[in-house]
Amino acid sequence: MKNKENIERVKCLIIGSGPAGYTAGIYASRANLNPVVYEGLQPGGQLTTTTEIDNFPGYPEGVTGNVMMGELKKQAERFGCDCRWGIVTEVNLHERPFKLKVDGNKEIEADSVIIATGATAKYLGLESEEKYRGSGVSACATCDGFFYRGKDVAVVGGGDTACEEASYLAGLCNKVYLIVRKDFLRASKAMQERVFKTANIEILFEHTTKELTGENGVEGCTLIKNAGTSSPEEVKIAIDGFFLAIGHHPNSDVFSDYVDTDEQGYILTQAGTPMTNIKGVFACGDVQDPNYRQAITSAASGCQAAIEAERYLAEMN
Ligand code: NDP
Repeated sequence: MKNKENIERVKCLIIGSGPAGYTAGIYASRANLNPVVYEGLQPGGQLTTTTEIDNFPGYPEGVTGNVMMGELKKQAERFGCDCRWGIVTEVNLHERPFKLKVDGNKEIEADSVIIATGATAKYLGLESEEKYRGSGVSACATCDGFFYRGKDVAVVGGGDTACEEASYLAGLCNKVYLIVRKDFLRASKAMQERVFKTANIEILFEHTTKELTGENGVEGCTLIKNAGTSSPEEVKIAIDGFFLAIGHHPNSDVFSDYVDTDEQGYILTQAGTPMTNIKGVFACGDVQDPNYRQAITSAASGCQAAIEAERYLAEMN
């Protein structure tokens, strides 16, 4: 029989530690819910891998993702929020209190759960991409760009992330190829202009990646120009680093037997609220937002989730 004493009871369990998780932590601790935050694989979330954040209100000079996340965490801890290392590996959201396991062994019973697990970078799915992961292939220019100073690199994607990563790398590297599968960039006008104006970024429109090559790590990349047309053309470029910036996958897998998701895995919430299909389970931040995915919208939804958790717990008592 299981020893109940080994099972920790938590009023409000917050899973994930980006702007959504920490903001939920600030609000939940101020509402005396004694929240526990499990920070996940990447404490601080995706923003810790970004460069300067210039669009978060209140930072007129901009702020780095690491500094901002550090401050959000400190703010949550100031009100007693218990932020811990650990990954939620199993859940049972059918029973009440909800049952969860952290790192495969620690058991928790939670009266309410706030899911703020964010989203993870996507890869193209090429064999060679797997082969060179960590030796020339990366999904984070801010984390790994330093290793490619003075070298030639490529970034795949045509959105804001790709443009931001290409601009960042252009400041470190000799040359940056931006590989775009369509004949236009999907990024915002401001981001596009920044890329167009940067002399050492070359945009390769209508190119797709066939494979990466090299004896010791990535040394080159074979592209197909005009794939899917009657005149495809093979193009080879010499590069030392290959950066993915083609979007994200929501980190909802561990919950997907319980909470409703869309076909991409984004958790479905009732419009304008953090409510999932399970009463007492709330979702906020990028794991439920395929649309805006901004630090500020994420933080706002974390606030909503904590307020709704507080209301739910008050109703229960
Ligand atoms: P997006 O989904 O906006 O863009 C993904 C890009 O990758 C698209 O150009 C897409 O091409 C391309 N792509 C997808 N799959 C493949 C593939 N298999 N092969 C080649 N190319 C592929 O993702 P982002 O991460 O750029 O942005 C996500 C959200 O975050 C957006 O809302 C964005 O505005 C926001 N953001 C804001 C920032 C800021 O304000 N500072 C910074 C970064 C992101 P296609 O266009 O052909 O579909």
